Amino acid sequence: MNYTQELVEIYDLLFDRYGPQHWWPGETRDEIIIGAILTQNTNWKNVEKAIENLKIKNLLTLVNITKTDMPEITQCIRPSGYYNQKALRLQEIAQYFMGSDVQSFSTRTTAEMRTELLALKGIGPETADSILLYAFEKPVFVIDTYTKRIFARSGIFPGNISYDEAQNFFMQNLQENAELFNEFHALLVRHAKECCQKNPHCIKCVLLKKCKFNNYDLNQEQ
Ligand code: SF4
Repeated sequence: MNYTQELVEIYDLLFDRYGPQHWWPGETRDEIIIGAILTQNTNWKNVEKAIENLKIKNLLTLVNITKTDMPEITQCIRPSGYYNQKALRLQEIAQYFMGSDVQSFSTRTTAEMRTELLALKGIGPETADSILLYAFEKPVFVIDTYTKRIFARSGIFPGNISYDEAQNFFMQNLQENAELFNEFHALLVRHAKECCQKNPHCIKCVLLKKCKFNNYDLNQEQ
């Protein structure tokens, strides 16, 4: 199979169906980084409440996060869940960026930036790549459970594909383009939420003709 052509067709079908997604839903780089931490293990609606609380307290900047006591941050981000853990992560990443300054961070290679982010406590590949793509416009493809689900059901991925294998698949078969990676990831999230849910609505799916879901064993999903 020509995977490049297949991916372009999938992208076009999703884009025609949903249109531009205008991600990331944060206004500043700091807000995107903070949102990337808060969205771990929760949905965006909960993150929005936490962000609103931070905004009210003027805590939507990394510099202000470093100057604020943990209990105040914890109180603001309570709606996003795992708030003690996330408050620690926010302080750690804020201190990291304040220590190395964001401008010098952006001049490093993408691989160097990724390695440094992954070395921070509580920053896994999905969070690191979201920060790189959406806050720094670096061409890295973000993988999440939605992406794995759609591509496993469609018969392109094996059910147990790793993060790195899935990411390599996209990056080897698409042109390196941050704008494309941004929109594609956002479209996959939209599609998984609206159509390819746990119990999928295949009848209305724009990918139906391409999908091998009938031969797919739902039990293999994690
Ligand atoms: S046809 Fe069904 S399983 Fe396949 S991508 Fe669409 S909604 Fe998901």
